[in-house]
Amino acid sequence: MDDPRINGERLWASLMEMARIGATPAGGVCRLTLSDFDKEARDLFIAWCEDAGCAISVDRIGNIFARRAGGDDGLAPVMTGSHLDTQPTGGKFDGAYGVLAGLEVMRTLNDYGVETKAPFEAIAWTNEEGCRFTTSMAGSGVFAGIYTIEDIRASTDADGLKFGEELERIGYAGAEPVGGRAVAAYFEAHIEQGPFLEAENKTIGVVTGNNTPKRAMIEEPAVPGGKHVIALLVANAPLGAPVGAIFVRYVTMAFEQAPAQAAAR
Ligand SMILES: [Zn+2]
Repeated sequence: MDDPRINGERLWASLMEMARIGATPAGGVCRLTLSDFDKEARDLFIAWCEDAGCAISVDRIGNIFARRAGGDDGLAPVMTGSHLDTQPTGGKFDGAYGVLAGLEVMRTLNDYGVETKAPFEAIAWTNEEGCRFTTSMAGSGVFAGIYTIEDIRASTDADGLKFGEELERIGYAGAEPVGGRAVAAYFEAHIEQGPFLEAENKTIGVVTGNNTPKRAMIEEPAVPGGKHVIALLVANAPLGAPVGAIFVRYVTMAFEQAPAQAAAR
């Protein structure tokens, strides 16, 4: 058998079709988590996965698992995935690439008639961005036992809408328990969130570290002249660092705005 190769044109076409959902005039994507656009993107991903012969399951926090059966379906699955939600001024590839790359792997295995030993799952995690609801990596965090489903469901967006109710509104509060099952391996393909590969003229790299951003918005009381200062604190710690070693860097932004405007930010 030839070495299986993915179909790059097919992957590109799927990325472009997905990017139409929530497309912005500037060429990017605004597909906030649990919005109507998020639902549309999820529906499209599921339709494509069903076409590829996958079994779909959705857990109680809305994570979608598209499963391609293995030769021994009792084995723990090999997983890959990412997210379909974006920032308000997101791009076409952040998240969507990792999800659709998983789909392309399954389509390719089908093309070549490959039966893998373990099952393979492509995943779309709920609310990775932490933009509309501010806990980022919420779906994967509940899966990993970092957050409780109750806390995430109770969180609210800027309009006071509850995560849990929005999840139900778009029809993605699934029946499966979140996490608590064996995973053989997890891979995530992701576009680089920085300039380094491009600067070095490289097309691919392997992530060797990560950071854990923590965000807080602090607003000072109004001072004469309506000057407000909003400080954005960013705590960066290497994974596994003791709490006392957390390195805090902060960015302070001063806004010359009326108090009401500053309060609304
Ligand atoms: Zn991402």
